[in-house]
Amino acid sequence: MSNSDPIIVIGSGAGGAAVAYKLVTSGHNVLMLEKGGVLPRDGTTMDVKRVMKEGAFKNKELWVNGQNQEFIPGEYYNLGGKTKWYGAALLRFDPHEFLADDDHQCLAWPFGYQELAPYYDEAEGLLSVNKFDNEPELQALIDRIVKADPRWKPDLLPLGLKREILNDEQEAKHFDGFASACGYKSDAEWSLLDKIRDNPAFRLETGKTVNGFLHADGDPARIVGVTCTDRSTYTGSAVVLAAGAMTSPRILQDYLMDTRLEETLPSTPLVGANFKMHLNSAVIGFSPFSNQDVLRKTAIIFNEDYPHSTVQCLGWIDGDILGSELPAAVPKFVTRAAGKRAYGFFVTTEDGSSPDNRIVSCGGAGRPLMDYDLQRIKPAAREHRRLVRAFITRLLAAGLVGADKYMGMAGTAHALGSMVTGTDPAASVVDADGKVHGMTGLYVGDGSILPRSSRVNPALTIYAWGLRLGRHLGAQAN
Ligand SMILES: Cc1cc2nc3c(=O)[nH]c(=O)nc-3n(C[C@H](O)[C@H](O)[C@H](O)COP(=O)(O)OP(=O)(O)OC[C@H]3O[C@@H](n4cnc5c(N)ncnc54)[C@H](O)[C@@H]3O)c2cc1C
Repeated sequence: MSNSDPIIVIGSGAGGAAVAYKLVTSGHNVLMLEKGGVLPRDGTTMDVKRVMKEGAFKNKELWVNGQNQEFIPGEYYNLGGKTKWYGAALLRFDPHEFLADDDHQCLAWPFGYQELAPYYDEAEGLLSVNKFDNEPELQALIDRIVKADPRWKPDLLPLGLKREILNDEQEAKHFDGFASACGYKSDAEWSLLDKIRDNPAFRLETGKTVNGFLHADGDPARIVGVTCTDRSTYTGSAVVLAAGAMTSPRILQDYLMDTRLEETLPSTPLVGANFKMHLNSAVIGFSPFSNQDVLRKTAIIFNEDYPHSTVQCLGWIDGDILGSELPAAVPKFVTRAAGKRAYGFFVTTEDGSSPDNRIVSCGGAGRPLMDYDLQRIKPAAREHRRLVRAFITRLLAAGLVGADKYMGMAGTAHALGSMVTGTDPAASVVDADGKVHGMTGLYVGDGSILPRSSRVNPALTIYAWGLRLGRHLGAQAN
């Protein structure tokens, strides 16, 4: 690898931005190609009507599920990727979540927690990870829950939010599912890309959709660049695929098919396989009284009866936000009254890996396919159902009437694991350093590589993986 040829990074979400940040700050040239554009910082990304009702910033591309039914997944194509919209709950996976768990169909990482620990430290620093005290009504509710049943164990939620957010009610009420206009929420753009944007070693091209790779003469397994849908091409010393777990495997599948590498590469059947996205349900608890808490998303609750799951608070809810999820026929005064009394929770269960749960490109000939069936991961589906029921019962005992909604196929916020890392080329797609098994010059830097989804949100682990990959590529180039 020559130090002057850029390393090409495809995609600017958690993984791509972390790889680029690490490389550029250690003196290496990076060319970042991002499909989307730069989001405005004029406040429109916090406008409930634009964001939630109209879905103005969301992907509009249709996919099909395993039953050939069309749906639009909750993907976002913009600089910073999905981190612009995330709730910034930035948690580490637990050390035991780097090991296999056969009963829950969980694969092992090729290394243990200690290997990622220094990159978790670095990511937490870069993203200003903080904990905030629970506000009065949430604390009172948690106290009632724990008093009635101490198996529910609350903790403060690590958040990528700056303290100043508490002085800006608009931002404090609109960070979970919205993009910050002032940078109080730490995302891949504000916290990583802005820090390298003016560095001469960094070049960013937005509006560039990568659709394939360039290879060395006569050797399709040696990648030397990329091609884009607008027919532009770029060469580099290495290529990092970080277009997200629903897109990266499709780009590689198409390339393997076009070059017939699929016939010889042992990992081919696993590209797109083992797809995970957590089982996520929203639970809304309605109390007889209006709520005054603003930030809200400050607590996480564990319960060892549900070891692969957690319950987190959601951010601010009001009549407008609630109304955007309800049919338009529901009168405004009803949604307003309900919104004032609503407290939101997010129930998350780790989904195990099934090779049949997969992302398939369809070679541009048809709609992309997300074949994901809970029947293939029954232990996870069982635990999730039990937990949702138990939590609603617990809320009722604490004075709140709960209603739940499973996020379903379109709820791809936590899309993961479609090109897992591992040591065995017949059981994984990339090695422990992120290089695609059997290929040269091609690495994966996004959430596709996660062998396990864990019981918590994935972004901090993706940032940490990206920083580690950036360090590895930088060391190789020296
Ligand atoms: C509403 C919401 C709330 C969330 N809340 C949390 C949370 O609280 N905590 C947490 O840990 N996680 C959360 N997440 C998930 C988190 O945002 C993702 O796990 C994370 O962003 C994934 O990072 P990534 O790099 O794998 O992919 P992405 O962030 O999706 O980045 C992929 C990038 O590649 C670009 N791209 C796609 N195709 C191409 C192409 N062909 N060519 C070039 N570029 C391309 C995309 O535009 C995008 O910028 C949330 C997500 C959403 C949507």
